[in-house]
Amino acid sequence: MLVDDSTSIRNLLKNSLIGQYNIIEAEHGKDALAKLPGQNIDMFLLDVNMPEMDGISLLAELRKTPAHKSTPILMLTTETKEELRQKGRELGASGWIVKPCEPDKLLAAIQKLLS
Ligand SMILES: [Mg+2]
Repeated sequence: MLVDDSTSIRNLLKNSLIGQYNIIEAEHGKDALAKLPGQNIDMFLLDVNMPEMDGISLLAELRKTPAHKSTPILMLTTETKEELRQKGRELGASGWIVKPCEPDKLLAAIQKLLS
């Protein structure tokens, strides 16, 4: 599942990952939680800065959900603040990638987390 409030970033990511993975898109944390029931999610890609519910809050919610206690969650953000990264780590983020990033680098990170 790909959660980002920017349509252009979602499209960009989708286009670089398409064909390899089925992607469910969501615009923000609340939208993601609403779309979760009945879905079998292998991995989450989360933006941090989003309206309604940000990526850090969504990360915390997902880790409280038994089904996603250990699902890989990759944070994909323009945020480079160490405190925020630290918070992500404490909440159980599997990785932190700073946007914009090379599609190859992202793909490698995803493949590593799914292996
Ligand atoms: Mg954003």
